[in-house]
Amino acid sequence: MFPQARPTTWQPEAVEVARTTVDDAVAVLSGLRITALTGAGVSTDSGIPDYRGPDSPPRSPMTYQQFVGDEEFRRHYWARNHVGWQHVNRTAPNAGHRALVRLEERDILAGIITQNVDLLHEDAGSRNVIDLHGRYDRVICLSCARVISRAHLAERLDALNPGFLESVGDVADIEIAPDADAVIESTAHFRPAPCEFCGGMLKPEIVYFGENVPRERVERAFALVDSADALLVAGSSLTVMSGLRFVRHAADEGKPVVIVNRGITRGDKYATVKIDSGVTPVLEDLTRRL
Ligand SMILES: [Zn+2]
Repeated sequence: MFPQARPTTWQPEAVEVARTTVDDAVAVLSGLRITALTGAGVSTDSGIPDYRGPDSPPRSPMTYQQFVGDEEFRRHYWARNHVGWQHVNRTAPNAGHRALVRLEERDILAGIITQNVDLLHEDAGSRNVIDLHGRYDRVICLSCARVISRAHLAERLDALNPGFLESVGDVADIEIAPDADAVIESTAHFRPAPCEFCGGMLKPEIVYFGENVPRERVERAFALVDSADALLVAGSSLTVMSGLRFVRHAADEGKPVVIVNRGITRGDKYATVKIDSGVTPVLEDLTRRL
């Protein structure tokens, strides 16, 4: 259910970045106004798995075309989503999210562009957040474009599928559960809900592979990058163009780019500083020292 889990042809390729420490990042960012671009690595310490991390299991994520074109696929999708949604709904922001809140309060951070759909930046208290890939708590009808809350849909799915959640049990993430196959087998009779207004097809208001980020949202994100002096990338391998383009743009404008991520990223060649590390302690450190 996470848009960062997307197929790609990009293969990691190591790029030598000369500056690699928090000291370097502090030296580069000191006195500058920053826009942050965040990805799954910011939320891993909240218990949301990063499918792109170096330790993540291989996985073949879905595309928009699969979702709209295949009823069986959709059935399995909604069954998994009905479980996964409950998990995301129970997660809480971590110290990395809170560090970014403090930077915004001190007017060092102009705002956040996030590739995450978990709303944890908003939950932490960040005010200027662009949810680039949408948000997990909303569902849109592909026919009439009405938007409903995921919580409301949960009630309808529970009514259509009595006993389903109980039968699945307490699985934090159905796709990476040790007995995932067995669990997913039980989704064969899951009944998705149609739009209650027009009978159309419902889809989480999340941008999937094969879909474009709405133009207005992209323009707001570019404006946020333009409003700052530097770009701080936290917890993203920048595998998809939807995020990478902001890194390129900042670099093209001559703005320093600081990347904090565990493992190689597709944006390393644009990085002024690249810190290969988990995100939370570095964000805390930066917030103390900037
Ligand atoms: Zn509808």
